[in-house]
Amino acid sequence: MNGAVPADILSDVVRWRRAIHRHPELGFEEERTAALIEAELARAGVEAVRVAKTGIIATLRGEWPGKTIALRADMDALPIQERSGETFESEVPGKMHACGHDGHSAMLLGAAVALARERAALRGTVKFFFQPAEEGPGGALPLIEAGAMRGVDAVAMIHVWPTLPAGTIGIRRGPAMASCDDFDIEIRGRGGHGGYPHTAVDTIPIAAELVGALQRIASREIDPLDSIVVAIGRIDGGYRRNVIADTTRIAGTVRCLNEKVREGVPERIERITRGVCEAHRATGTVTILHGYPSVHNDPALADRIAAIARSTDGVPAVVDLDRPTMGAEDFSYYTQEAPGCMIRLGVAQPGEANPPMLHSAEFRLDESALPVGVHLFRALAHRLPADL
Ligand SMILES: [Zn+2]
Ligand SMILES: [Zn+2]
Repeated sequence: MNGAVPADILSDVVRWRRAIHRHPELGFEEERTAALIEAELARAGVEAVRVAKTGIIATLRGEWPGKTIALRADMDALPIQERSGETFESEVPGKMHACGHDGHSAMLLGAAVALARERAALRGTVKFFFQPAEEGPGGALPLIEAGAMRGVDAVAMIHVWPTLPAGTIGIRRGPAMASCDDFDIEIRGRGGHGGYPHTAVDTIPIAAELVGALQRIASREIDPLDSIVVAIGRIDGGYRRNVIADTTRIAGTVRCLNEKVREGVPERIERITRGVCEAHRATGTVTILHGYPSVHNDPALADRIAAIARSTDGVPAVVDLDRPTMGAEDFSYYTQEAPGCMIRLGVAQPGEANPPMLHSAEFRLDESALPVGVHLFRALAHRLPADL
């Protein structure tokens, strides 16, 4: 691998990113984004197939033998009204690239176009996943079902990160992001007049007690050295002040870093719900909605990627991240098929002490970070297949 990524490609990356940013599309609706990516891949002579409605799997076979690696970008936006103040703000009301997936797609496309010009020097095979619907309902599983991971020896992705300085690469070994499961609970009692509570079964105080009891999963039932979040995001119940609520619904989310801890959670929620409801003559029904598993970065692969990043021109800084986060990512499904690593790329503007987080209407990324992602994707494609 010689030299840097050509300047024409790096300026295209910024242009593509802004074009995608102006026209954000939600999960499985990424038609315009996919068309842009397909047109540029075709122009560069990279073979690509459409899968899972708006997903694209592109493949570049090197001229030398070697392993197969996959590099993944997600393409979807969020249902948020943008207030970033960028000159290229979203032109679609109520939709915004607030998680940086516009940047991910543009960087991976830039790497694919650069690598297509360097095929003669490539070992092994590089697959590029342009994945829909990361923000839900999830595009990773449909890509895997379409055969994306067949023959893949390692998989990596880059996610922009607002709390790291622009251009800094953050690498985490082991647990990186949490699993995310949701739950709905319906408490059924008996309605009645607020002045005659003894004739009814009031579900409001039962819900209040249950919210507190569910917090004791984290504080009393799980090893304090393991991480778990049980969060109630919504309570619905009742009609008016003087009517006893016959039904109250609770909705929440559970996040874990360890799949063993995660497996035990549904039983705990069901047991506590049943117990609290029975104690007060009500019934409780729990529905668990399984979401993304936790992301586990393969330590050996993470070490290898950190070493490659440290010796890649155009990557200004590489830091080890000592803590995972409780966010979730469907990249985890790929890491169940092959060793994987989620790489973070800092996008904080200089001097910004408290930058807006991902999923914020004010989120903006420092575009000086985009070439760093392209350089790193390209370096991984050249070097990982040779030494896995
Ligand atoms: Zn997101
Ligand atoms: Zn994201």
